[in-house]
Amino acid sequence: MAKVRFRGAKHSPKKLEKDILERSKDLWEDPELLRPVCIGSCRRCHFDKPFKKIHSLDRIKDDADKLVKAASRGDNMVRAYAATISLYVSGKIPYLATARFPGEEVSFAVRGKVGQDKLIGAQYYDDPNKRPLLYMELAKKRRLCLYSLEEGMLCSDKPKMPEEYLQEIMEESPYNLGEDGSCGHEGKGTLIIHIQSRDEQLRVCRDCAEKTNLLHLLVSRIVSPQVMDDFQVRVEHPYKSGDGDITEAQVPAEILERYKRNQINDRELIDAVLKEKKRNLKECGSAVYVMEGRNYGCDLESFMSDVRGSEEEKSALQTVLSDGSIPLVMEGNRASEALQELWSDYATDIILAISSPETVEAMGDVSRQNPGQALQEALFKERSRKILANLPNYSRLGEIGSLADRLARIAKTGDAATLRRDIEFKSLRDFKARSVALAFIKASSTDDSSLWQFSKEEMEFADYLLQFAAMMIEAEGDRYNDALEAMLTASGSAEKLPQ
Ligand SMILES: [Zn+2]
Ligand SMILES: [Zn+2]
Repeated sequence: MAKVRFRGAKHSPKKLEKDILERSKDLWEDPELLRPVCIGSCRRCHFDKPFKKIHSLDRIKDDADKLVKAASRGDNMVRAYAATISLYVSGKIPYLATARFPGEEVSFAVRGKVGQDKLIGAQYYDDPNKRPLLYMELAKKRRLCLYSLEEGMLCSDKPKMPEEYLQEIMEESPYNLGEDGSCGHEGKGTLIIHIQSRDEQLRVCRDCAEKTNLLHLLVSRIVSPQVMDDFQVRVEHPYKSGDGDITEAQVPAEILERYKRNQINDRELIDAVLKEKKRNLKECGSAVYVMEGRNYGCDLESFMSDVRGSEEEKSALQTVLSDGSIPLVMEGNRASEALQELWSDYATDIILAISSPETVEAMGDVSRQNPGQALQEALFKERSRKILANLPNYSRLGEIGSLADRLARIAKTGDAATLRRDIEFKSLRDFKARSVALAFIKASSTDDSSLWQFSKEEMEFADYLLQFAAMMIEAEGDRYNDALEAMLTASGSAEKLPQ
C-alpha cells in the first residue's frame, strides 16, 4: 500500500480543501460511514470498541480544540476520526500535506498526532482505493479480511471475497472475461488466478494478457495481513512429457514472487513461465511434440500427420524424430519450421535422413547453411548420384556418343537449365551433333528460346531423334547401353560402342 512520505506544508488549493471539508462534514454527521459491514462469522465485532469511543466524541463534537486533543491520544482509528471532523468544526484547513500514492499524489490535512495513512483513509473515506489505509492496523492486529467496495467496507474473519468486489475490480481491469471467468481461449499459455474463497478461476490467455498485474489489482482493495492466502496463481502451458493435452503448472517460486510484488505484469509472467518450461523440456530430453499450442505428448504419428510440408521435409523430420529422444516445440505447423528449429543440433542427421552417407560427405558442413536450401541441394545430389551410379561407364566414346551420354546424364537429373548451359552450340559444327543436342533440349524442356540457332533441317532431324533422347533419359543399367546404341544408329553415326 502507499508509502506515505511527508512533503511539507503547501498552500492549499481551494478545491481540494473544499472536498476534504465536505467529507469531514459527512463524517461529523454520521461516523457510521466508516464502520465496515460484517459479512463473515466474526465472533464479536472488532469495530464495536473503536466505534463506541467514536460515538463518545459526541459530547465534544462542536469543539475543534477538544477534537484536536482527542486526536492526540488513544485508539488510532478514533484519533483519525477526531482529527478529520475537527476540520469541519473549525471550518478551515490549516495546510495540506502531500503523500505519494501509487499513480498519484494525495493531499490531506494534518491534525493531531495521527499516522498520515490513517488521516488519508478517513479524509478519503468515500474512495475505495484510499479508504483501506484507515483499517490496516486493526485488520493486522485482529487478523481480519476487509474488502473495500465503492459503497463501503465489508469485514470478514477470513477470506470471503464478495461477488460485488470481484465485479468492481474486473471493471477496473483491462479484461473483459466471460461468465466463466475466462477470456475463452486455450493454447499457448494461460494465466490462471484461483480465488479460493470463491472457488472461482480467472483465466487470461497469452494473447489477451495485458501489461497489467491482475493479481495486484485483485488484492489492491483488500485489507488483510495474509492477503495472498486467498489466491493461487498458475500458468497453463502446453509443455509436458508423456500424454495429455495441456499442463497446469505451479509458477516457479522466484517468478511468482516477482509477480506478487508487482514487478512483472501478466504478459511477462506467462512468458517467463513458458520460457522456463520450454527450457526444462529441452533439458529433460524425452520426446514430446508441441505444435500450434497443442501437445502431442510422445505421439510422433499424430504429430507427423498434422505437420505440413513437402514429402522430403516430412520424411527428414520423421526420420530424425523417430530416434525418440528429441523434444520439439514449435509455434506453427510447417515442417520447414521444425527443421529450422532442429537444424543447429541435427543438420547432418537431417541430411542423412533424406540422402546417403556419400551425399552427406559431399555436402560438407551444412550446419551454417539455410536448411531449406541444404535440403534441396542434398536431394539433387542424391538423385544425381543414384542415377549415375546405375549407368554403365564408358571410357572411350566417339564425338556423338560422348555428347549423347553426357547430355543424357544431365537430363536424367532433371535440370534443364544445366543442360542448356552445358551445350555449347557454337562449338558444335557437325549437323548430326547439333541435331542430337537439340533432341535432348526438346526432350527435357518445353522452353524454345534457343531454337532460333538451328536450321530447319536440324529441327526436323531433332524431332526424329527426340524419341531416342527420351529413351536414353528414361533408361537404366543395360537398357541405357541399348538406348545409346539406338541413338548412335538413328543419328547416322558410324560410331560403335566399346564392347
Ligand atoms: Zn466482522
Ligand atoms: Zn484469450
